[in-house]
Amino acid sequence: MHDAKRPKSGVTAANSNTRLSAGRLQRIAAAPNRPPPVVRPTNSNTRMTAGPGRRIDVGNTRAWPLPSATPDIAANRLREKMVERLREEGIQDGVVLAAMRRMPRHAFVDEALASRAYENAALPIGAGQTISQPRIVARMIATARNGRNLGRVLEVGTGCGYQAAILAGVAREVYSIERVRVLYEQARARLLALNLPHVRLLLGDGSLGLPAFAPFDAIVVAAAGASVPTALFEQLAIGGRLVAPEGSGHQRLVLIERTSAKHWKRTELEPVRFVPLQTGVQL
Ligand code: SAH
Repeated sequence: MHDAKRPKSGVTAANSNTRLSAGRLQRIAAAPNRPPPVVRPTNSNTRMTAGPGRRIDVGNTRAWPLPSATPDIAANRLREKMVERLREEGIQDGVVLAAMRRMPRHAFVDEALASRAYENAALPIGAGQTISQPRIVARMIATARNGRNLGRVLEVGTGCGYQAAILAGVAREVYSIERVRVLYEQARARLLALNLPHVRLLLGDGSLGLPAFAPFDAIVVAAAGASVPTALFEQLAIGGRLVAPEGSGHQRLVLIERTSAKHWKRTELEPVRFVPLQTGVQL
């Protein structure tokens, strides 16, 4: 454990090559320091200010109920077993386990793979990407949460949207960025169907983070870069926790805690295997 280096440059806003998209696939070329497009959830009734002089609708900041467990009894039973296994493997965070017990993981994979949705497996989701194993989702979110109630969180690498949906069960506001357009669109359709209006998905390069919405109480990165993108360090709230895989050959899970305005503490956790963190957007 040692102090992580402070990022060399300040916060970089999405550059002009980056397209951010939200809600009804509204797309803009984001100019420096310009927040991403604003989408008003249909049932939004609260407003917050984000960035200088900008009013951003963020939806109701009460905790939103997750959909009730699927009526599919077989899936319910498999999910119970999955949660039991996670507990046996050392995941102790009851809030995370409860969110995972409620969320139908089979709804996030192709129908042909639905029967395998509750195995501890990384399954293909298209575009050469995979849904993370349940154990790694639980581990990352429990580590990021550390027993706290989370306000605003950022996920880099939405993929199929499963981890964003679990984050929705433990945080008041979830922002998740995906760089592959087809995955972003699929995830958006799934999350709409699950009625999770406090999750906002964006199409963009997540290695730049989302400075207009920072600071985040927690940041969870679902793809591995050679090192954790430094732009994300600055977007952590003081006391905030970032969990990310790091490395190209041998990867490790890394925890970055922001202990003060200028100090970050880095802890290396277990070996992991993630898809690579890539730059730019794939349209
Ligand atoms: N969170 C997902 C895991 C998806 S796999 C789950 O719930 O299972 C990781 C995802 O990160 C892939 O979809 C990949 O396209 C995406 N990704 C890789 N680099 C990225 C970047 N720089 N910005 C945003 N997404 C990125």
